[in-house]
Amino acid sequence: RPQIFSLRSSGFSTATSPSNKQDPPRVPNLIGGTFVDSQSSSSIDVINPATQEVVSQVPLTTNEEFKAAVSAAKQAFPSWRNTPVTTRQRVMLKFQELIRRDIDKLAHNITTEQGKTLKDAHGDVFRGLEVVEHACGMATLQMGEYVSNVSSGIDTYSIREPLGVCAGICPFNFPAMIPLWMFPVAVTCGNTFVLKPSEKDPGASIILAELALEAGLPKGVLNVVHGTNDIVNAICDDDDIRAVSFVGSNTAGMHIYSRAAAKGKRVQSNMGAKNHAIILPDASEDATLNALIAAGFGAAGQRCMALSTVVFVGDAKSWEKKLVERAKSLKVNAGTEPDADLGPAKERICNLIQNGVDSGAKLLLDGRDIVVPGYERGNFIGPTILSGVTPDMECYKEEIFGPVLLCIHADSFEEAINIVNRNKYGNGASIFTTSGIAARKFQNEIEAGQVGINVPIPVPLPFFSFTGSKASFAGDLNFYGKAGVNFFTQIKTVTQQWKDLPGGSGINLAMPTSQ
Ligand code: NAD
Repeated sequence: RPQIFSLRSSGFSTATSPSNKQDPPRVPNLIGGTFVDSQSSSSIDVINPATQEVVSQVPLTTNEEFKAAVSAAKQAFPSWRNTPVTTRQRVMLKFQELIRRDIDKLAHNITTEQGKTLKDAHGDVFRGLEVVEHACGMATLQMGEYVSNVSSGIDTYSIREPLGVCAGICPFNFPAMIPLWMFPVAVTCGNTFVLKPSEKDPGASIILAELALEAGLPKGVLNVVHGTNDIVNAICDDDDIRAVSFVGSNTAGMHIYSRAAAKGKRVQSNMGAKNHAIILPDASEDATLNALIAAGFGAAGQRCMALSTVVFVGDAKSWEKKLVERAKSLKVNAGTEPDADLGPAKERICNLIQNGVDSGAKLLLDGRDIVVPGYERGNFIGPTILSGVTPDMECYKEEIFGPVLLCIHADSFEEAINIVNRNKYGNGASIFTTSGIAARKFQNEIEAGQVGINVPIPVPLPFFSFTGSKASFAGDLNFYGKAGVNFFTQIKTVTQQWKDLPGGSGINLAMPTSQ
């Protein structure tokens, strides 16, 4: 029999606290309000990328357990959808309070499992917390529409209703924010949910699930199951799951988009990126360089909105030297160390850097051989800058997802815009300039879903939506904001007639019209 943890606590976060040096704990599933250890004998090690220590073990949940999670969500749906929206909002009000209370614990878990600095891990939680805050206003967000007297004595109104069981599949780079983009909006709309965290850093999802239960989310409304491809495919194929939210790479995202859609599900799929900044020579030099450094190297470049390519127009090219000087001053260290600017990142990145060098780009700053004292086994890469990159190079075409800035030179603003627009991704693009005319042209002509004007990482707050486009998004309803509420609800349109009908008017077989 599976080991049963207590109802309100998984026992997981205390087991992974820094003072506890026992064997790495298994990460529990959450099924029907109970944290249970999977019966599966297969599991994957969750590794601290700064030390290579095994933090915990994540099970490859069995199909039977997955079915139990979906069944719990299905069972919880009728009563949860009929729970007043004000009650559902109150659960979110309590949930946001509890996230604030435990933000240090969440951040510590993120830094241990994902590697980003503690300060950045706080930001990860906070950007998700803002979505929970937004969900607290669901009654207004979910309002329908009403037109009185569309025909004589007839009114029409539309209602936004929940879909049923929804599922979320998460990436490794934002272990708190991305689960919080998904289930708070879904459940406050009245849906129930099955969450599949990233197998690389599932801890934050478990802590968040504990807090959601503590906030009063009834059992079965949120379920958490772990695993990799098999469980993802099971989510896509399951007949009881009505919608799938995915965030991650293009390979997984397009597979999930087509497999789940073939089963008639709604899918929103946020995928990879290559975010550009165009620098015009009239930009404010100091502020622009600081913005490029922060957006290129923050979170070791492992944000989907990280800046990965700088297009210097004309004389702005001469700023490269200062860019390198500022990048050199950043401190690479374990995320838990207070002076860390960059935490550890992956080795795959090194191959793409080498590819740039082999294709003729100039390596102005090489972070590949960095050794961090005290963390010699860590997966670190320091800030890296490649200059003279051209759009045909592999390092430009592929998403690097590391602390690497590629510099391209363009002779004119038009050429710079063309370079950005020819790239297949469309997550974000920024311009740095003091010219309103150039900024307006950029806003109109650039083919990216999220545009920054003197803002390097233009991630919208939750009252707007996260609007990546082109190869960075598949689906038509984006995450959070109005689009997020629309994704998790379907419209029912009601036409009602209340009038005294004359008895002797007879039967009319013609199509009813409102004339
Ligand atoms: P990933 O695609 O490897 O994994 C994401 C999820 O998909 C995981 O839960 C994983 O178990 C599952 N998965 C992976 N391969 C699969 C397969 N073949 N079949 C079925 N399921 C599979 O992504 P990652 O490395 O965890 O995250 C980094 C990627 O996510 C980057 O490409 C980044 O740009 C992207 N990302 C995008 C956004 C956005 O909003 N656009 C936000 C964050 C991250």
